[in-house]
Amino acid sequence: MGALYGQFRILFSTATTDGQFALLIPPMLPFKVIYHPQYDLDLGPHVFPSEKFRLIHDALLAEGIAEASDFLQPEPAPDEDVLRVHTPAYVNKLLTDSLTLSERMKLEIPLSESTRMGFWLAAGGSTLAGRKALEDGFAANLSGGFHHAYPGHGEGFCMIHDVGVAIRSLQAAGKIRTAITVDTDVHHGNGTAAIFHGDSSVYTLSIHQENNYPSRKPPSNMDLHLPDRIGDADYLAIFERGWVQALGDFHPDMVFYVGGADPYREDQLGGLSLTLEGLQRRDRIVFELSARLGIPVAVTLAGGYARRVEDTVRIHCNTICAARDISLLQPKSA
Ligand SMILES: [Zn+2]
Repeated sequence: MGALYGQFRILFSTATTDGQFALLIPPMLPFKVIYHPQYDLDLGPHVFPSEKFRLIHDALLAEGIAEASDFLQPEPAPDEDVLRVHTPAYVNKLLTDSLTLSERMKLEIPLSESTRMGFWLAAGGSTLAGRKALEDGFAANLSGGFHHAYPGHGEGFCMIHDVGVAIRSLQAAGKIRTAITVDTDVHHGNGTAAIFHGDSSVYTLSIHQENNYPSRKPPSNMDLHLPDRIGDADYLAIFERGWVQALGDFHPDMVFYVGGADPYREDQLGGLSLTLEGLQRRDRIVFELSARLGIPVAVTLAGGYARRVEDTVRIHCNTICAARDISLLQPKSA
């Protein structure tokens, strides 16, 4: 059928084996969204609103952004893949419920059957998002972005480093050789930096508030440390300059985007002043340059602790919409 542009792929017909023409209606989104009901960590009253994963899924459907066939359900990551990033001692402690008291306090969420399943599923989901992004140019996991998990311990609500597991799994399967992680959560991507330190196959970029958790920030390949209360214009100028430079220095096989909702000005754990519009502009900067360079993007969500959970849900849905809009502008072969 030759090259088509995505925005025209609304309805088209094709010949069937008996000579009839069938109307094929493509899915509403031009890429897959990865979701599992057990992404909800069931934390009860907690500053981390893990019910947001379900709320985002429901909002995408209710608002007609996605339809049921756009979603894929992941399997939990195999332990073999988790062990490509995490130490056997740490994984064993998680599986046998034997973290020390100080390890539990550092993690800041309980170790339970539902949290363990939620993190294993998130890692499986980010891996699946990476695989689907290689096929469709984009894919999004509605969980993930647990960038504070280190090889040997978890911290800051992050038990398993889903993006690390995904990259290592895709590399081991020969699907990708190199990757870049671009992390726009308001908190520094300390676990990501530690996991990939000294690894020339993975470039790490983190843009975050300097005076915020974590206090120890191991160096990423590029760290954009921001002052308190920076707003849209300054943030976007700094970010775009850094992102262009990063992709000038390093041409990866895949982008893993950790799209944090917590640089939002109403966030309870953040100290930056971005608006909803500024956050979506940030997403577009990531997606536009990646698409122009032909690099597939796997999106994961990350922190979001807005006073109103609806705002956090809106920010994450806006990320999906930005990916959709840019994906639809890309030439497709049919
Ligand atoms: Zn965060």
